[in-house]
Amino acid sequence: MSIQILDADTVNKIAAGEVIERPMAVVKELIENAIDAGANSITVEIKDGGKSLIRVTDNGSGIDEEDIKLAFVSHATSKITKLQDLLSVSTLGFRGEALASIAAVSQLEMFTRTKNSLNGYMYVIEGGSEKKCGAAGCPDGTTFVVRNLFYNTPARLKFLKTSQTEAGYISNLIEHMALSHPKISFRFINQNQPKLFTSGNGNIKDVIYNIYGRDITLNLLPISIVKGSCTINGFIGKPVIARGNRGYINYFINGRFIKSHIISHAVEEAYSPYMMQHKYPFTVLHFNIMPQLIDINVHPQKMEIRFTNEKELYKDIYNAVSETLKYKELIPDVALQQDKETFRENATYMVHNIKQETLFETNVKIIGQVFSTYWILQYGSDMFLVDQHAAHEKVLYERFIKQIESNTPLTQILAPPLVLSLSMTERQALEENISIFEKLGYCIESFGGREYMVTGVPAQLPNIATQELIIEIIDNLVDNKINITPATLIERVATMSCKAAIKGGSDLPEEQIHELLKELMSLENPYNCPHGRPTMIKISQKELENKFKR
Ligand code: ADP
Ligand code: MG
Repeated sequence: MSIQILDADTVNKIAAGEVIERPMAVVKELIENAIDAGANSITVEIKDGGKSLIRVTDNGSGIDEEDIKLAFVSHATSKITKLQDLLSVSTLGFRGEALASIAAVSQLEMFTRTKNSLNGYMYVIEGGSEKKCGAAGCPDGTTFVVRNLFYNTPARLKFLKTSQTEAGYISNLIEHMALSHPKISFRFINQNQPKLFTSGNGNIKDVIYNIYGRDITLNLLPISIVKGSCTINGFIGKPVIARGNRGYINYFINGRFIKSHIISHAVEEAYSPYMMQHKYPFTVLHFNIMPQLIDINVHPQKMEIRFTNEKELYKDIYNAVSETLKYKELIPDVALQQDKETFRENATYMVHNIKQETLFETNVKIIGQVFSTYWILQYGSDMFLVDQHAAHEKVLYERFIKQIESNTPLTQILAPPLVLSLSMTERQALEENISIFEKLGYCIESFGGREYMVTGVPAQLPNIATQELIIEIIDNLVDNKINITPATLIERVATMSCKAAIKGGSDLPEEQIHELLKELMSLENPYNCPHGRPTMIKISQKELENKFKR
């Protein structure tokens, strides 16, 4: 086959496919244009997951008659004029590709009218060629009707998921848009059914309520912080509303929903002391960062973002979330059903009252142990039940972490050594991460072939199930493929200390209880075990009295 230059039509369709991957991308571009046009009310209507119909109506500026055709020309934009402008863009769109791309792969009608215009205009374009252009009666603002997306690019069409899945993507997008723009009223209609309405009153909490409902809204902690590198505003969920996946970690950078490893990681790390494994927080956070400190990659679909000062940003976010979580309802109450809610509020202050260690020694009375597992303590007018296993686990964990951080692992010699026989992938994972094992206090030597000899184990961990633990860490390394991060390392350590911790169900002499409690209370967060489970619960004297109807 001879080399040929593609005709313009084909080139356009290929380019369009890169910008517009699926119906959701159309909705995204049209909403962003509406926001850029100053709209404070946006309605999105779709049918068949957006495949047969997408209608986006805004009450923004509208488009001047003489600009209408230009708006559909590739790289025509009213938003930047030269490359430097990219660094300080505050508008959402800036490449001037969206309308041209959407028009190339659909049958599109647009109605638009500016405030000063006597009448509106209609523009019809199909597969990139103009079909109609003229005056039309319409309200201020702009409406796009996009029909039969990808009707002329069957390969793209085939690649789409079911209508339900595509509608799901769009619904997610609109939720993010509504959360990032609480001053804009959003309405979403799917198959003639209203799915979401936000009032646009500027209150993020109201938007959260509209999207996620009552349970989440009742368990939010506000954040509002000005730091050197950024300002952070919004809400974070209390650990009690932890979710099973990362889909509830919402954050926005200068009004854009953009994924950033730095931010995700900082948020998750700050939560980790309060979270069980494989649980993730709920957040809606708005970051404002000076545009000069951000580098946005201009690739059409993958919005990549880099920050000039990542370390500082990480620290600021981590601290902001950490500080907000600290001292807030870390001890669950055993509350009576009827006054649970008022009780919950009071409980928040409880932690301030025990000023931990010092007060602990003088004022806490150990009453005894129940079910060979829970210690009963009295402090002031409150009674505490402490889970022995969780408390021990927490103490071991903290000791261990301290050691890892100080880079002085204590090793206990194993005699005779343990011999491991590993598969290819396991060997590779072990060899690549041998320094992590050393940091933990393990001594592992190659024995030739697939055999490895474990001659030392971390001294802090009681020597039980050693082989099981090492294999578990290696499995985790294999699963993760990507190099293990400090966070996953800590997670592993948590698992290990959990296993090593004395199991509930064995009696402990009182001095030992006292020592452990003292160590526990000296920790920054004594109230949760490394997996986020509570180490203690509280029952106040008042509650007991209520129960006895006194
Ligand atoms: P970009 O948003 O990157 O500039 P688009 O192709 O999305 O490129 O839009 C081209 C131009 O059309 C915009 O710069 C803007 O001037 C105009 N435009 C698009 N949508 C709207 C709208 N809803 N209201 C007003 N003007 C719009
Ligand atoms: Mg745009």
